[in-house]
Amino acid sequence: MKEFACRKCHMLTTEKRCPNDGSNELSDEWSGLIIVLDPKKSQVAKTLNITVPGRYALKVS
Ligand SMILES: [Zn+2]
Repeated sequence: MKEFACRKCHMLTTEKRCPNDGSNELSDEWSGLIIVLDPKKSQVAKTLNITVPGRYALKVS
């Protein structure tokens, strides 16, 4: 199934809206899958301003 990445928070979803912030600005051109389990302990999460555990794209275009 195709996954889309939210342009705002980079969260991945198969829905038409981002489950994290409700944005419909989704892109199917993304790369670099990140799974964030504990945003407080993840340097990548800090860099991308991720505060909710989940699956994210590193780059969204
Ligand atoms: Zn989002």
